[in-house]
Amino acid sequence: MNVPFFNYQDLYLKDKIIVDQAIESVMNKGAFILQKELADFEKYLAHYTGAKFALGVANGTDALWLAMMACGLKPGDEVLMPSHTYVATPAAANFIGLNPILVDCNDDHLMCIDDMKEKISPKTRAIIPVQLNGRTLNMAELLSIADQNSLLVIEDAAQGLGSKYNGQMAGTFGLAGTYSFYPAKTLGCFGDGGAIVTNDELLFNKLYELRDHGRNKSGEYQRWGLNSRLDNLQAAILLGKIKVLKQEIKRRREIAEKYHIFLSIIPDLCLPPDPSSSENHFDTYQNYEIECGDRDNLKSFLSSKGIGTIIQWGGQAVHQIKALGLYNNLPKTDRLFNKCLLLPMNTTLTSFQVDYVIESIKEFYK
Ligand SMILES: *Cc1c(COP(=O)(O)O)cnc(C)c1O
Repeated sequence: MNVPFFNYQDLYLKDKIIVDQAIESVMNKGAFILQKELADFEKYLAHYTGAKFALGVANGTDALWLAMMACGLKPGDEVLMPSHTYVATPAAANFIGLNPILVDCNDDHLMCIDDMKEKISPKTRAIIPVQLNGRTLNMAELLSIADQNSLLVIEDAAQGLGSKYNGQMAGTFGLAGTYSFYPAKTLGCFGDGGAIVTNDELLFNKLYELRDHGRNKSGEYQRWGLNSRLDNLQAAILLGKIKVLKQEIKRRREIAEKYHIFLSIIPDLCLPPDPSSSENHFDTYQNYEIECGDRDNLKSFLSSKGIGTIIQWGGQAVHQIKALGLYNNLPKTDRLFNKCLLLPMNTTLTSFQVDYVIESIKEFYK
């Protein structure tokens, strides 16, 4: 049996009816840029997340830097974020002159709030929590610290769509939240895509203008802007797919439950919190990131069995990437990156494939 880490071809086959319908309709209408499907998707996304406003943009990285810029952050401002994130999070900050300050991680692999507190300085202006692997941080605690220190909160929820803390959706806690629709994300399109949500109407209007050459809803120029539109074809596909997102998340949680039941007995492994482990968290398992003492041997053994696994971000947390010059002493993240591994986790996996992954891991530890 073969279990690729991610099967991009099956992504189309799995949702063929939805995708074909969306493409045919948009093609026949010739409606490609800033059309009804985009507006409908934005409306649906706002409704789904519980935010007042949603705006489609070109990708999740643009969503981040547009949100940071529109919130009024200025060159030289320090922004706190975890080192265990995609390079896009600090890159978005760096791109507009902000100074990303990297924070250590917790046992659940998300940003450590205690370490974050220590790193607040007179120059700190914002916190960018990353809702990693489909899990939302303890946002009650984070917001109270942000409040005490007058810091803005912009959530990188690229991996967090649908995940909740205390019943509230990732992306909706701070001034703005961002999502990515990269194909491998929980809600993926067939190219690049992203979105920003906010409850602040002024901020929304500013973002609306920035995304499309500075033009407002009446087409009048209000400011300098650029082109970061989510194209209507991708929006139409996303509109079809977001309507079945609930089932997708249910399936991810089933797979996580199965991994938990059969793998939690192996002493060398440390697994993510299982789906029913906490009342406060609703996790969507964008990724299933385990820790294993014998990681590199397990990885090659699984590879010899035809099972693909990866180490997130190509094996380096952001502070470990020499070329970026953001070195910081983050012992927990360093330790994690000697042990972390992503097991296959997506909705193209069959139950046989999930069983095979489990059996193969058990065989390695036998
Ligand atoms: C995917 C991802 C992004 C960037 O999204 P793109 O759409 O690829 O630009 C940002 N942050 C995190 C945590 C991500 O996983």
